[in-house]
Amino acid sequence: MVIDAQAGTELVALAGDFARREIAPRVEEYDRNERIPRDLLDRMADLGFFGGVVPVELGGLGLDHMTFAALVEEVSKVCQIMGTLVSMPSGLVGAGIARFGTPEQKERWLRPLAQGRIFGGSAVTEPQSGSDVAGMQTTYKKDGEGFVLNGTKAWISNLDIAEFFLSFATIDRSLRHGGVTAFLIPRDTPGLGLHPYKDKLGFRPICTGEVVFDDVRLGPEALVGEEGRGFEVAMTAVERGRLGVAARSVGLAQAALDEAVSYAKERIAFGHPIAQFQIVQSKVTDMEVGVHTARLLVADAAQALERGERARRLTSMAKMYASDVAFRTAADALQIHGAYGVSPEYPIGRLFRDAKVLQIVEGSNDLHRALIGEMALGIRAES
Ligand SMILES: Cc1cc2nc3c(=O)[nH]c(=O)nc-3n(C[C@H](O)[C@H](O)[C@H](O)COP(=O)(O)OP(=O)(O)OC[C@H]3O[C@@H](n4cnc5c(N)ncnc54)[C@H](O)[C@@H]3O)c2cc1C
Repeated sequence: MVIDAQAGTELVALAGDFARREIAPRVEEYDRNERIPRDLLDRMADLGFFGGVVPVELGGLGLDHMTFAALVEEVSKVCQIMGTLVSMPSGLVGAGIARFGTPEQKERWLRPLAQGRIFGGSAVTEPQSGSDVAGMQTTYKKDGEGFVLNGTKAWISNLDIAEFFLSFATIDRSLRHGGVTAFLIPRDTPGLGLHPYKDKLGFRPICTGEVVFDDVRLGPEALVGEEGRGFEVAMTAVERGRLGVAARSVGLAQAALDEAVSYAKERIAFGHPIAQFQIVQSKVTDMEVGVHTARLLVADAAQALERGERARRLTSMAKMYASDVAFRTAADALQIHGAYGVSPEYPIGRLFRDAKVLQIVEGSNDLHRALIGEMALGIRAES
């Protein structure tokens, strides 16, 4: 059974209501303390917010991609970190398992993930290779029926709460894409080291850091898809993840716009609310147009995914454009706040810091700019 349009609309409204009532009063504090409150996650799980597009028979909600994007946007208007966690089972962590995992892997990892009973991480980036995924240095060797992994992943999210990691290693670095294999690695596997970074500029509540594989031994049940086809698993994860990043960016941009409008109406300068000044109005105009067009691009990408297309160009466009809009909107909204923009009394500083990071994660926007141009010029295939 797939959730119908009416139920989808109600779910999005419920998520918005929950975010405003339960998340909003706590977000500034947990952003400062760099820790996501587990009780909030548990209550979101009870309400089904993590089920996303994961099929109902695999423990998800079976949402269509448009409703999923609307849900992520709604939560992200209050906290885009919570939006990240809501989107992960449908994207960066769950999408590769849904597409390439065995029935046992889906039962063990995807079902509880989609139900919000556990969380996971997706470990792709390495200290020397972020954009260039095929340049990874983490290696594996065959060991009878199993595998032994050695190497280091960097900037991996959910180190504190992940019960497992979907990760990648190569059997031969010179093979690049063709050497990469995907593995599911339980958190308590001997030889797995987790080393969080502290005091990040943005995305502070998400615990991000290094995942070290020191002779990590895995059985054959850890293999995701076929050996040597792990690059496809990684691309499925990041491409599906991009819809979520784009929707989170729209949510954040809308929040920055709302803050700017409300502040501009209240703040008096030269005897008038600053909303009367044309330069302020012009900034608000650009924000309105930006947020609206970004939302349309997200909807377009969501519809293409719903039709079963790979939608590489559309998801790249949505991710790049929406996160650029989020950054510009947050920067202009901060400017409208004057000195109060840099005060912890107002949320705009947090929105500005997170918006910068949205331009970097899941493919830096420069990389997307290159990919979109290459696809348009026929230098790179779209599927
Ligand atoms: C808070 C946070 C959370 C993260 N979580 C995860 C996670 O859970 N899992 C994970 O695997 N990774 C994660 N990352 C890593 C993120 O995906 C990478 O930072 C991103 O892919 C960019 O890689 P890089 O930092 O190595 O930059 P590099 O690849 O070194 O690129 C640096 C810069 O060079 C330029 N550049 C590089 N290649 C090109 C190109 N082809 N064309 C044009 N310009 C180019 C761009 O300006 C780019 O921004 C996270 C990062 C952050 C900050």
